[in-house]
Amino acid sequence: MRFTLGALVTAASLILSGSVQASERAERLDIYFLDMYGGGSTLIVTPLGESVLIDTGSLRPEHRDVDRICRACQEAGVKTIDYLITTHFHSDHFGGLPELVRRIPVRVFLDKGAPAPPSESNSRWFRELYPLYQEATKGQAKAIGAGDDIPLKNDPAGRIAPIRLHCVAAEERVEGFDGDVDAPVEGFDLAGADETDNARSIALVLTYGAFRFFAGGDITRNVELHLAQPVNRIGQVDLYQVTHHGLDQSNNPVLVKALSPTVAVAMNGPRKGIQPQTFKALTALPSLQALYQIHYNTQYGDAGNAAPEFIANRENPDRGEFIKASVYPAKGVFTVRIGPDGEAKTYPIQAGAAARIISPARFEHIAFNVQDPVAVAKWYCDYLGMKVVRSGPAPAFATFVSDAGGNMMFELYRNVDAPMPDQRRTDPNSFHVAFETDDVKATRDMLLGAGATVAKDIWSTDAGDVVIILRDPWGLPIQFLKRTERMLRD
Ligand SMILES: [Zn+2]
Repeated sequence: MRFTLGALVTAASLILSGSVQASERAERLDIYFLDMYGGGSTLIVTPLGESVLIDTGSLRPEHRDVDRICRACQEAGVKTIDYLITTHFHSDHFGGLPELVRRIPVRVFLDKGAPAPPSESNSRWFRELYPLYQEATKGQAKAIGAGDDIPLKNDPAGRIAPIRLHCVAAEERVEGFDGDVDAPVEGFDLAGADETDNARSIALVLTYGAFRFFAGGDITRNVELHLAQPVNRIGQVDLYQVTHHGLDQSNNPVLVKALSPTVAVAMNGPRKGIQPQTFKALTALPSLQALYQIHYNTQYGDAGNAAPEFIANRENPDRGEFIKASVYPAKGVFTVRIGPDGEAKTYPIQAGAAARIISPARFEHIAFNVQDPVAVAKWYCDYLGMKVVRSGPAPAFATFVSDAGGNMMFELYRNVDAPMPDQRRTDPNSFHVAFETDDVKATRDMLLGAGATVAKDIWSTDAGDVVIILRDPWGLPIQFLKRTERMLRD
């Protein structure tokens, strides 16, 4: 059963103290990655004091994981969990919930609306834990699905950057993709169908100002592929919760590259993740400045683990220490530390910053006959901040997208009776579409992560204009330029 999450936001919860200052402390958002010994639990505390707990670790050994969650709540000053999200029904993700509920109040339970699939619903652990879950949540858990928002409070005065927690996948449905995630895709290797609840995990994107964080639960490769292609549906992120504890049946390199995080945090165990392919995919990323791990994995040696200062429980695997990220959008940085008192390392917020630069894009008109007008329109909306003004019916799907100025549009349509130009063959010196941008390099970096390619790399004209020509994922030459003097008026 689905319901409208918006209804949960009561009028009272929107009334905020007028004294909230956008000071450093007031703008801080914290993310705690808890040591569940290879299980999952992540605590988010917003600057407006709301808390979200994603998963609750394991039931056994008794009290271990719940003690750790409670300690983090205490550390964070959380007395009530506002939203408790269970990504999927595996024992390392929801085993601690019944005890936790006895120790700290929970306002809203959220899950994906269906128990584990038939392949697992007869397992011993599921038959033990699921009834406890239903009892603890009193059957009141609400379902969220791909495309839903968790209605976190925002500062009505706008002094604190907008916060949004958004579900991009659940129950093998990917936002923006209608098909079967296990069906073949030309040019990509798919894994066999994942019959477990991992593939059905809830995957979330948290944005706070320009900061972007991806927490994909335990989703596996086929779901991940569809988050990354034919369009990068998430975009670049600053912080990546390494999916599925760093196991190789997840962390599809296509998605890892699409996300291109600055910092990755693996909630692994002493003998569970990070597996070699995932370790390699992460450490090969040009964007990655640091990889943190909850544990040192004894199976892979130093070459398969992060450097000692990035591993939370390296010396003592039973220490139970968390990794904590703190986000300061107004300062353009986030910090990561191990434990409450670890030395904070500082990283730039850059993922959303690039998107923000491109959002005021403008273009000179035009209509294109394309194979898939809806997908092309979505890409321009996702990455250039354009808007669909009108979408027409099949078979032409004539879709009008407007630029930021609101007075210029692409018309994208499919007319099978007319020649369908192969834009990959279009010489950018013969034809291209041009957009303004404030930062050509940042635009390039962001769009390369979104499936664009370079047709002609950055150069400057005699007049001092900085220019690049890319191709969109379908080959159309698109130029971005920063002129010394704008030729158009606002
Ligand atoms: Zn797991």
